[in-house]
Amino acid sequence: MYALEVKELTKKFGNLTAVNKASFKVPEGSIFGLIGRNGAGKTTTIRMMMNIYMPDSGEVILRGAVVGQDFKDKVGYLPEERGLYKKMKVLETLLFFAELKGKTGRDVQKKAKEYLERFNLSDRMNSKIEDLSKGNQQKVQFIATILHDPEFLILDEPFSGLDPINTNILKEIILEKKKEGKVILFSTHLMDFAEKMCDHIAIINNGEIILEGSLTDLKKKFAKSNVSLSYEGDIGFLKDQPFIKKVEDFGNTTGIRVKSPEQIQELLKLLVQHNITVKKFDANDISLHEIFVETAGGDAELINEEVHNG
Ligand code: ATP
Repeated sequence: MYALEVKELTKKFGNLTAVNKASFKVPEGSIFGLIGRNGAGKTTTIRMMMNIYMPDSGEVILRGAVVGQDFKDKVGYLPEERGLYKKMKVLETLLFFAELKGKTGRDVQKKAKEYLERFNLSDRMNSKIEDLSKGNQQKVQFIATILHDPEFLILDEPFSGLDPINTNILKEIILEKKKEGKVILFSTHLMDFAEKMCDHIAIINNGEIILEGSLTDLKKKFAKSNVSLSYEGDIGFLKDQPFIKKVEDFGNTTGIRVKSPEQIQELLKLLVQHNITVKKFDANDISLHEIFVETAGGDAELINEEVHNG
């Protein structure tokens, strides 16, 4: 049985189908990445899961049964739109959110202080939210999401806007939560995070889930027809070869996809015939980035952003 199952969720806004029959399964104790470009439908999917948007059709199944109010009590949700009460103080805010989830008392206070310490916010405990930087406000909101120790974490773009140090702290806490057996789903358009952290992923594109499964399995499947090549010479002739699906230059290495795995030998033969100096020919390697570009289509903006954030 899966921890969560999203079944054929659809949401239309007027003429626009933001999410179209999206289905995916989140296994117990795993980190699940919902990956997609800007506007792909990640937030809309998450909002339907959280019952903020009524889906036009489809359902969310929690451990075999359609989700009800009980899900809200079990989940820590970090919304895309960050919003805390500006006039409230940091510690006060955290205790307020915990209380909304039925958690009060010394233990919660102690835990809140521990998390503030980890995020280097101890000295801001009595600051008003409005006096914190945007990144610091985001850290407080993340702590508010996890403080009541929920079984499920649903995090919409949790890493956006954080510096590398804070990103690492967040990453550590998410991995700790996984070790505790919690189920974590986060959305991102940053392939690096998804690749390093997720056990399972779903790629959403134009509102449709175009790929889903365990990251290891997907990598195995895609790597079969993929070569990472370093070379000297001119490989321009490859574009005329019918068995070549795609050539993508990543700078130091070039990713080459052939139409079927057995054509990898043919590729190697051809390179030798054309006097290309082959420095590296790795037939078993593919990054999530390449899988994403292959399935969802490339875009300079996205690639640049990854370089800057990665
Ligand atoms: P991003 O990474 O940019 O946040 P996303 O993958 O989360 O993108 P969504 O916010 O789910 O994408 O948006 C999917 C599509 O639905 C977009 O075309 C968006 O403009 C549209 N959309 C989302 N919310 C609404 C709304 N309330 N009314 C009208 N259109 C909407």
